[in-house]
Amino acid sequence: MRLKTYLTSMLISVATMAIMANATVADEPASEVNTRFTLAANRTFKAFDPQQEQTWQRPFFFMQLADTQYGMFTGNKGFEQEVALVQQAVKHINRLRPRFVIVCGDLTNATPNQPHYQSQVSQFHHDFSKVDAEIPLVCVCGNHDVGNRPTQESIASYQGNFGDDYFSFWVGGVYNIVLNSSVLKDPSGAAEVLTAQQAWLDQQLQDAKTTKPKHILLFQHHPFFLEQEEEPDQYFNIPLERRTPLLQQLKQADVRAVFAGHYHRNAYGRAGAMEMITTGPVGRPLGKDSSGFRIVIVDETKIQHQYWAMDDVPEKINLPADQSND
Ligand SMILES: [Zn+2]
Repeated sequence: MRLKTYLTSMLISVATMAIMANATVADEPASEVNTRFTLAANRTFKAFDPQQEQTWQRPFFFMQLADTQYGMFTGNKGFEQEVALVQQAVKHINRLRPRFVIVCGDLTNATPNQPHYQSQVSQFHHDFSKVDAEIPLVCVCGNHDVGNRPTQESIASYQGNFGDDYFSFWVGGVYNIVLNSSVLKDPSGAAEVLTAQQAWLDQQLQDAKTTKPKHILLFQHHPFFLEQEEEPDQYFNIPLERRTPLLQQLKQADVRAVFAGHYHRNAYGRAGAMEMITTGPVGRPLGKDSSGFRIVIVDETKIQHQYWAMDDVPEKINLPADQSND
């Protein structure tokens, strides 16, 4: 009798422990998704304090990723290869500990109205939830995330999963602007979004004249151009009709560099002093450069950047000496 009671109570406590363990596991992904992927809101990124971060602190580095594009290797039939590559990237991120990570679009291969979109989004959330909670993860929308012809609906779907499609944020004295380049590529389905984004951008660049950041950096999915600022229109760049006036405006505002993806290869060009940097994919490469990402070192007067293939990433990043203590 006593043994039976003992065994029963044992069973109850084991069952309780199992329920508690399950509850903990079940709660984790939801809370990670809710907090981590909704930080781009009200046209800013809430992980960074807008007042405190306006001041230059010390040299830092961030990591720029692009085109994780879950589903591209198999034409949406699975995403095992993308998962393996992202897991490798996340390991590097957690070891190197950048100030932030930014993923420049085409997070998934399926667009919001296609089958498998939601499972690819869930896998992206799941894999990137493993990035250490102290390292902010900034997402940028690409043509696969909002469609080649974005609409209010496709943009709203993106916002539900990843937050705002355009916004700005300060990090240690550097002003970062994120644009929705898909409406620059083809505004025909969402002309009012492009108009609103342009008015907002005018204001951001106007404000920067007073706030005087050390650098202004711009992030979007499509490169304005691959190598030459006046190169002819093609699939991988922004049409000259909208490219030319915007480059003019960015150069005048002293934007230091534009970071993009979309090309699935690396490419480099300049518009005056402004660098146009196109970064190869975390996912499927389309050229000689293997899957990888870019590390960007930000110093008070300059930035340095380098693309690293996933297998060649250094153990540690050495930052320039902190001049502020001299
Ligand atoms: Zn793309």
